[in-house]
Amino acid sequence: MVKSRYLAVWPVFIVGDDPATLTFTVAADDLELVRDTQAIIAGQGSPAADDATPRRQYITAQVRQRLHQRGFREKVMAAYRRQCAMCHLKHAELLDAAHIIGDKEPGGEPVVPNGLALCKIHHAAFDQNILGVDPDYRILVREDILLERDGPMLRHGLQELQGSRLIVPRRADLRPDRDRLARRFEKFLKAG
Ligand SMILES: [Zn+2]
Repeated sequence: MVKSRYLAVWPVFIVGDDPATLTFTVAADDLELVRDTQAIIAGQGSPAADDATPRRQYITAQVRQRLHQRGFREKVMAAYRRQCAMCHLKHAELLDAAHIIGDKEPGGEPVVPNGLALCKIHHAAFDQNILGVDPDYRILVREDILLERDGPMLRHGLQELQGSRLIVPRRADLRPDRDRLARRFEKFLKAG
């Protein structure tokens, strides 16, 4: 189970109250809009007031997205038992929930089968197509990187991952989706 976490957002306004379902609708906003709203209430009007509704909707949508991303991270971290899927690093503060398919592309939903728990360096290397993962969960290193000579970060951090296996969640339904990996792997091959 994922423990509940809270994302603090302020200020917020109650913009709707439905007693039948015992729900409040809350809109998040910023201080400027609070001032505008107070000015309207005080009958002073405000030149910015016309912009208030779309802006409030925009900010509310942003908060919704942040909550969504926060949920994604928690679920991915739990599925991968808070370790990097490539190098086992177990420091949550150095781990990200990476997307296999980017969140603006089709199939890029924030669901665990589209995620990988990766440490910061492996996340960046994956995003930059320095590292690729094939649909059989094999990690491959881009050829030019394999040929390079440098210190321990290059050797141990990147080159030694060549041909190793991704560490995947125990639950089969939480493992990386092979179709998404295949799509992503094509990009890696093109980058090489
Ligand atoms: Zn790592």
